[in-house]
Amino acid sequence: MSSSDQTRVQNINLTPDKVMHKLVSLAKRRGFIFPSSEIYGGLSSCFDYGPLGSEMKKNIKDLWWNSMTRRHTNIVGIDASIMMNPMVWEASGHVASFNDPMIDDRTTKRRYRADHLIENHIEKLRRDGKTEQAEKVQSVYEALATAPDMNRALYDLIVSQNIKAPDTGSGDWTEVRQFNLMFQCAMGAVADTSNIVYLRPETAQGIFVNFHNVRESSRMKVPFGIAQIGKAFRNEIVKGNFIFRMVEFEQMEMQYFVKPGTQIEAFESWRAERFNWYIEELGISPEKLHWYKHDKLAHYADLAYDIKFAFPFGIEEIEGIHSRTDFDLSQHQQYSGKNMEYIDQTTGERYIPYVVETSSGSDRLFLALLSDAYNEDVVDGEPRVMLKLSPKVAPVKAAVLPLIKKGEMGEKAEKLRDELSMSFLVQYDDAASIGKRYRRQDEIGTPFCFTVDHQSLEDNTITVRYRDSAYQERIDMSKAVEFLAVKLV
Ligand code: ATP
Repeated sequence: MSSSDQTRVQNINLTPDKVMHKLVSLAKRRGFIFPSSEIYGGLSSCFDYGPLGSEMKKNIKDLWWNSMTRRHTNIVGIDASIMMNPMVWEASGHVASFNDPMIDDRTTKRRYRADHLIENHIEKLRRDGKTEQAEKVQSVYEALATAPDMNRALYDLIVSQNIKAPDTGSGDWTEVRQFNLMFQCAMGAVADTSNIVYLRPETAQGIFVNFHNVRESSRMKVPFGIAQIGKAFRNEIVKGNFIFRMVEFEQMEMQYFVKPGTQIEAFESWRAERFNWYIEELGISPEKLHWYKHDKLAHYADLAYDIKFAFPFGIEEIEGIHSRTDFDLSQHQQYSGKNMEYIDQTTGERYIPYVVETSSGSDRLFLALLSDAYNEDVVDGEPRVMLKLSPKVAPVKAAVLPLIKKGEMGEKAEKLRDELSMSFLVQYDDAASIGKRYRRQDEIGTPFCFTVDHQSLEDNTITVRYRDSAYQERIDMSKAVEFLAVKLV
């Protein structure tokens, strides 16, 4: 094969609803994501990552981890336990108020988030050009935060606005009830209220309670950050949309401790850095990323933005960036009786640091990357499915394909595979036609295929085929490792 007989690629445009359907099916067929405990009928909102999925997820987490800890000399990582002393959750406010307001439809027996119904209604009014009405409803909604009976107020607003269920159009509403999202379990032999422990609903608290341990052991000075990747659990009321909202998911969080008064500057700097990370490091299409500023702030926050992504089913949050004030450390000081102050060794000042947090979900990001990458086109008249993943994210970095599986060609190809495998995840494939083998790799997002052919036996060169353009060129076989290393920087 020479670079002169190049292939031609034609794009196909897909509607968003089709993309989701095709993604779910590809994810299962090619070993990215399986329904959890599928042979027993599965478990709602629980999924397993397969061989390729777990590799890709690891790549995402490694990229995040390195961007936080390796590239910032003042950020270190921890891995805190999922179960903690239940007082942690009393102090953080989760026991009292990590609730979602839910409402049921009597006719369809479906359950909804009351606040989401209202927020979607306001958005729809805006989309329909009913700006004045949208603003009116928005201001009533914001005022509900101080309503003496929040549930009643939410219900009244839903009924007075004649809000219907978005999926069924029905609106036979029950009262609104608060539903705590934390999973409880009993630790030890006897199940009573004295030994209730919770599965953590966020990873952040493991960082706050370790503030002094990390600061002292790593000799950190404010401003500094603590990063963590770990599982979190939420008994979500509204499920669905594949891995977008799960009950067991993984967060990648970083809490950045700053001097009070400097939090907005730190916030803005992290806001810019995090947005760019998705584009520059992960290769996400910039036009699919959006900012959402929270007008209605949580009681502990003084500024909050979400980074949203245009999923096939709508524009939804993938990361929250929050300025959390000194709320968490102050609460832990009060509940634990331990001093959470920081003493500036140079000036002698004492204060409880303020916190800027960046909180991203690796599963949602996985779905964002898959849906951004999903592509169908026609190459040389043959349709193909391709995941246009950035080489850094792609689970398999290269495929080694001998044109003929037996003899010298096969041996050479195996040698190349062994060499590459020392540094990269590569696949070896010698079954079916070369065209079919390229398609198999395109479908899982492998950015490069190395083909060992007749010419390889003569001059030790191989063909490199580029996934996106189907362009081909020859390189010396001894340069293959270096070639990949350069492409993955
Ligand atoms: P949402 O409003 O969608 O429920 P949230 O505002 O409660 O999200 P945060 O508490 O800010 O989310 O969590 C930070 C990140 O953790 C989110 O941006 C998301 O990527 C991820 N995340 C939160 N809940 C889930 C979930 N149930 N399944 C998967 N990822 C989640």
